[in-house]
Amino acid sequence: MSYIHNFKEICKIIKESVSIVDVAYMLNLCIDNNRGGNPKTNCTNHRHGDGVDANPSMFLYRNSNRYHCFSCRNSGSVIDLVMQCRSIDKYEAVDWLCENFGIKKPERLQKQYVPQDDVKYYSSFLRKLELPESCRNYLKSRGLNEETIEKFQIKGIDDYSSAQQCFVQEYGFEVWEKTGLSRLYVWGSKNVPQVIFPIFKNYQVVGYVVRPVIDTKSSKYIRIGDKSTFFNQDALDTLSKGDEVYIVEGPFDCCSLEQCGCKSIAMLGNELKHMNLDVLKASKEKTIHFILSPDKDVAGTDTELGLLEVFDGIGIKPQLIYPESGNDWNEELVNRGRIEINSILNHGENRMEDVIRVRN
Ligand SMILES: [Zn+2]
Repeated sequence: MSYIHNFKEICKIIKESVSIVDVAYMLNLCIDNNRGGNPKTNCTNHRHGDGVDANPSMFLYRNSNRYHCFSCRNSGSVIDLVMQCRSIDKYEAVDWLCENFGIKKPERLQKQYVPQDDVKYYSSFLRKLELPESCRNYLKSRGLNEETIEKFQIKGIDDYSSAQQCFVQEYGFEVWEKTGLSRLYVWGSKNVPQVIFPIFKNYQVVGYVVRPVIDTKSSKYIRIGDKSTFFNQDALDTLSKGDEVYIVEGPFDCCSLEQCGCKSIAMLGNELKHMNLDVLKASKEKTIHFILSPDKDVAGTDTELGLLEVFDGIGIKPQLIYPESGNDWNEELVNRGRIEINSILNHGENRMEDVIRVRN
């Protein structure tokens, strides 16, 4: 597989050319220069002691370009450091390093490769998950009904430790970390309940998109596993000639539209650069009508421009439609309910027929 080859190569280039100390600075770690010896910093491992390393015990070695903590033996490369500090996976870390250190990325870095093994672990994790009351109530407060919750197999956890425990008992820590499930820790330290949406591709779980039930300082969503698949992507298979499909920004908007009887798939965040667009091209053959409906905020406008460009690139001319009240379809569902949404979709005046982009 030439892509994997490329990915390995880019990892090697990064490890050889980007200094561990520079990366630590870029990550805003607090660095003690250690009077000209090997610089040290507070350990970045969340399993270090009770989680806090008050006296810096993690050293940054210029020679080997690696870090090592003498207390918990946490060690690794520049890529590992970025993964650990930003709680992201290897692909994202490589992406981040390339962006921040001006390294040219291989053309298809966005093509995610999910090992079949991981698929097995993701589906096992899904079977272990339940829907705690806290999460169910949250989903209901956002207008989703039982049928939708069931249909999308939306689950959740009350706290990180119990979710980790039940998985690790069976598969061990290594798998927990390798699959990216350990990233659930982002909000876990505060015992925040999290709603978990499985992402299916060809009816197999290839990843998750997760959101805490309260707003926190960290990012609203994290994505675990495959980054190339649209949420609810398998819905494209069920479309027939001439059908419409709405492309929205997150699982809540997607579920809201589906609850109103409209076919929808979602990008996850606005990371379109990671998505595999072949499925859209395949649907184009079936003359499916694509309708873009990104959030109606500043980020949405950016997404819209990015999307139009991407669609242009694959030869699809989409329509644009926005909810009338609220920033997105989930807000619209909460504000107005299903019947009104249907009427907006059927008679919406802000629907722009044949969006044509004029480029200089
Ligand atoms: Zn440590």
